[in-house]
Amino acid sequence: MGEYPHTLAELLEIVREFVKERDWDQYNLPLNLAISTSIEVGELLELFQWKTHEEIEEALKEDDFREALASEIADVLVYLLRVADTTGIDPAKAVVEKMKRNREKYPIDYWEGRAPNRFNRPE
Ligand SMILES: [Mg+2]
Repeated sequence: MGEYPHTLAELLEIVREFVKERDWDQYNLPLNLAISTSIEVGELLELFQWKTHEEIEEALKEDDFREALASEIADVLVYLLRVADTTGIDPAKAVVEKMKRNREKYPIDYWEGRAPNRFNRPE
C-alpha cells in the first residue's frame, strides 16, 4: 500500500485528527453525520446519473471522472467512519459480522449466479 494507510483504524485516526484540529467534534454528531453520509452518496450517484453502462465504462477511462469519483468515495467513507467513531461501532467488526450473516442468508447452492431481488427468494 506504500504511502497510504491501509487499515480502517489508521483512516479513522486521520479523520479524527482532522476534526479535532478544527474543533468540529461539536458538529460531528451521529444524526448530522448520517445525513452528511446520505448527501455524499447522492453526490456519488450524480456522477453516474443519466449515463448508460457503456458511457460509464468510457467515463472511467478519463482522469477527471476518476478524480471526481475518488473524491466522492472518500467523502462517503469519511462520513461513515465518523458515524462509526461517534457511535462506538467498530466498522471492521461490523463488516465481518455482517458478511457472516450474509453468508447464512445467501447460501451459495441457491444464490450462485442469481441477483437477489424481492421476487426470487427461496420459500
Ligand atoms: Mg462530495
